[in-house]
Amino acid sequence: MTSLKIGICGGGVGGLCAALALRQQGHEAIVFERAKQFLRIGADVNLTPNAVRALDRLGVGEVLRETAARPTHRISRTWDTGEETSRLPMSEAAEVRYGAPQLTIHRGDLLQALANALPEEAIRLGKQAERVEQGEPMRIHFADGTSEEVDLVVGGDGIHSAVRRELFGEDHPEFTGLVSYRAVVPRSAVPEVENLDAFTKWWGPSPDVQVVVFPLTRGEEVFIFATTPQDDWREESWTLPGDVDELRRVYRAFHPDVQALLAACDSVTKSALYVREPMPQWSVGHATLLGDAAHPMVPFMAQGACMAIEDAVVLSRCLEGVDRAGLSAALQRYEEARKARTAQVQRGSRANDWLKGEGTADWVYGYDAWGVELP
Ligand SMILES: Cc1cc2nc3c(=O)[nH]c(=O)nc-3n(C[C@H](O)[C@H](O)[C@H](O)COP(=O)(O)OP(=O)(O)OC[C@H]3O[C@@H](n4cnc5c(N)ncnc54)[C@H](O)[C@@H]3O)c2cc1C
Repeated sequence: MTSLKIGICGGGVGGLCAALALRQQGHEAIVFERAKQFLRIGADVNLTPNAVRALDRLGVGEVLRETAARPTHRISRTWDTGEETSRLPMSEAAEVRYGAPQLTIHRGDLLQALANALPEEAIRLGKQAERVEQGEPMRIHFADGTSEEVDLVVGGDGIHSAVRRELFGEDHPEFTGLVSYRAVVPRSAVPEVENLDAFTKWWGPSPDVQVVVFPLTRGEEVFIFATTPQDDWREESWTLPGDVDELRRVYRAFHPDVQALLAACDSVTKSALYVREPMPQWSVGHATLLGDAAHPMVPFMAQGACMAIEDAVVLSRCLEGVDRAGLSAALQRYEEARKARTAQVQRGSRANDWLKGEGTADWVYGYDAWGVELP
């Protein structure tokens, strides 16, 4: 069987899924992750049916179902009155319609499940990619002074991707003027709030303010996401702390459910939101990108992780049976298969109006990464 040595920079959601999928094709895929260990950091990941179906076939669906929550509905509500402007049934209804449910899970639990499904030699921790040297073979240079020869480099190293910078230079994202806050609270802290088994988006009086709430950890925890306009904070980070009172002040006229949720937050993370245009090209030589490295998006469709998972599956399908001579053509097929869809989700996220009123989720949830026709 043909086997390529593939170096995946970044052991996040997309990188780990790519390693699993590529190993299923018989390739020697190795993840180089800059963190020294997988910690339970971050908060939520929203896995809609398009992602769950992909993960099921990677063999991790059962483990994920042990810790994830299964939202019963996807609901849009008006910020002050609480009036519902759309309600999609998920759970069993999604299984019937799309072949998989929606799962919402702590990011740490998802990463752990993916890492556990890989053999030990497939993950190297403490390896921060700094430079990518083109050639046959390719060479990845790490911050610790070591380097590794591979046939193909995959940049799965997130929004501030070093691999993207190496291939295409610095990017110039546009600040939206908004910051996002994330928090996880125990469900027992908000007994008065209804509908906590649903994925609910509270739409504000302007697109600058909104709150998204959904269950995590078998429903024992509740995830809260909110945005506020703020021009003086420009840090794009997954881990920096924010000021909860700042957040509560902006939402003080919202429905009592929203105020109760924010009152229960002990701590929040805070990140500035930036917009990036879809990239016209993802690959150079024998190096390509996936996930946030290829198409970072604002989180208003909650599809960042789902797109990374779909990328991983489609990349592996494009590389099935491919040797070094066929790599360039395979990477071209991968880009062609994925660019239009991810650009549509990037633009849809930026527009921030998806499912505000009645509408269909089929074009997002109905996508089958394992079955979609390849160019
Ligand atoms: C710490 C952290 C917490 C997050 N928390 C949330 C959250 O609560 N909610 C949410 O919606 N999204 C969160 N995200 C982002 C979310 O996981 C991604 O948007 C989405 O899953 C797309 O996945 P990805 O694989 O492209 O990127 P990510 O999942 O972000 O993975 C990128 C990985 O690459 C690693 N990395 C970065 N640079 C290098 C380098 N030079 N060399 C080697 N490795 C590198 C990072 O440590 C990370 O593990 C978080 C991301 C991170 C890194």
